[in-house]
Amino acid sequence: MRARSPRRPIEQRIRKTPLGAELALSLYTKGCRYAACSFCSLPLLSAGEARVGADDIKAQADYALGAWSKKRLAAVERVSVVNSGSVLDQRTLPTRALCHLLKKLSVLPNLKLVALDTRAEFVEDWELDRLRKRLGKIGLELAVGYETQD
Ligand code: SF4
Repeated sequence: MRARSPRRPIEQRIRKTPLGAELALSLYTKGCRYAACSFCSLPLLSAGEARVGADDIKAQADYALGAWSKKRLAAVERVSVVNSGSVLDQRTLPTRALCHLLKKLSVLPNLKLVALDTRAEFVEDWELDRLRKRLGKIGLELAVGYETQD
């Protein structure tokens, strides 16, 4: 099997939802630190313990947003970000890489909400403050327990 590039996301797709067009972005990072949910295969999609640095993740964000035309991106109203674990776990996704992504998202003209998939123990006020600054008036939502919701 060919090795996966640390500078490419697992997936980025734009889908229609009842709440508007959503860009679903799955970043390739180290695996979930918890990795104890028997139903979950997400850690298998991750880099495991291999290093995926902040610059690699920034390159993934650039690649994901560069994959779409300006017209498709202009229609996006929601963005959901997952990473085979917790987006707010800095061991897997350094804050500066996340800030880079949010800064790029902040210029999308119709974007109303960015949802980050995370376990609750990784949520820290100082980091949320930084992320909110990057997003300006765009809403920030934490999707906690995402896999168990309909
Ligand atoms: S459900 Fe979430 S916390 Fe559980 S193993 Fe999967 S990614 Fe980790």
